[in-house]
Amino acid sequence: MQIIDTHHVKEIFGLHRQDSIEGRWIPLEAMYPFLEKMKNLISLKEIGASERGKPIYNIKTGSGPTKVLIWTQMHGNESTGTKAICDLLSFLTDNKDDIANEILLNCTISIIPILNPDGAETYTRVNANGIDLNRDAVDLVARESKVLRNELDTFQPDFCFNLHDQRTIFGVEGTENPATLSFLAPSEEVSRKVTKGRIKTMNVIVAMNRLMQQIIPNQIGRYTDEFYPTATGDNFQKLGYPTILIESGHFPADYEREKSRGYTFMALLQGIYHVATSKEFTEYQEYFDIPNNVKSFYDLLITFEGKKRDEIYQFKEVLENKKVSFVPELVQEKEETAQYFHQKN
Ligand SMILES: [Zn+2]
Repeated sequence: MQIIDTHHVKEIFGLHRQDSIEGRWIPLEAMYPFLEKMKNLISLKEIGASERGKPIYNIKTGSGPTKVLIWTQMHGNESTGTKAICDLLSFLTDNKDDIANEILLNCTISIIPILNPDGAETYTRVNANGIDLNRDAVDLVARESKVLRNELDTFQPDFCFNLHDQRTIFGVEGTENPATLSFLAPSEEVSRKVTKGRIKTMNVIVAMNRLMQQIIPNQIGRYTDEFYPTATGDNFQKLGYPTILIESGHFPADYEREKSRGYTFMALLQGIYHVATSKEFTEYQEYFDIPNNVKSFYDLLITFEGKKRDEIYQFKEVLENKKVSFVPELVQEKEETAQYFHQKN
C-alpha cells in the first residue's frame, strides 16, 4: 500500500482549498464560481434534474482504466463532501503533482456533486418530496435516485465513494474523541457476510485509515454494518460495485466543518490514490481494528452552582439568512452511552 506522506497531503490541501465555497449551507449555486473556473479543465455535463427542476451535474476527469464514481450531498444538509471534492478537483487538474498525474493516468473519475440540489437549497436531509434518497435505492421513487442509478449502470465503476456527514453525537468507542471521520464497507445481506466485494471496499478503507490515523489519531470510527435493505451503499455493494461510505464528522470547535473538510479531502485523496496504484485489494483485517462509532457526545453541558441538576443541550441546525445557526435544544432523555460534551458552561 502506498500511503501519501502526511506533510505532503497537508500541503496539497493548503494549496487547493477553494475559498469560494465554505460553511455548512452549500446550495448548488455556491458551486457555480468554482465550476466556471474549472470548465476548461474538466468535462461538465447536465445528467438530469431534481424534482424541482434544478440541474444535476456530472463531472468527469482522468483517462485511466479504473473507474471511480463519487457523489455528494444525497442528503441535502450534508455538505462537507461537496467542499472536499472541489478541493480535490482543483488538485487533480493542476497538473503539477505526481500523485495527481498518476491518478488521472490510471483512473477515470465521475463525480456527481450535490445529488440532491433541492435538499441542499432548503438544508434538509430529504428531497423536495420528502424522500430520503439513501433509502430509495430499491424503489427509485425520486428523480435524483434514478439519475444516480443511471450513472452507475452506464459508467459501471470499479469503486464508489458515497459521501455523507454525521451528527456531532458520534464519537470513537473507547476514547473521549469525536468521530471526525467514519468509514463503512456496507453489508450485502442481513448476515453481514464478508464477501469478495466487501473485502475490496475494506481494503480501500484500510489505506485511508492508515493515512488518517497519522493525522487525526483515534478520531476515526467504523460505522455499523447492519444491513439496510433500501440503502444506496448496501444495494450498490450487492450489485457488485464496491462502495466506500465516508461520514465527515465533528472536530473540536469546528461546527462549520472546515477542519473536517480537510480531513475528508485527505482521506478521499488517499482512497483514490490507493485505487489508482494498487493491483490487489485483498488485505482487509485492519478494517476491524477501527473502533466502532458510538453515540458518546452532546453539544453543550451547563452546570449551575449549588444545583444538583445539569442541563444538557444538543444543537439544532437551522438555516437563517443563508447561514446555518446552531440553536441549543434541551435534551429530555439522555442516551446512556453519551457522556462527553463538545462545550461546557
Ligand atoms: Zn447522510
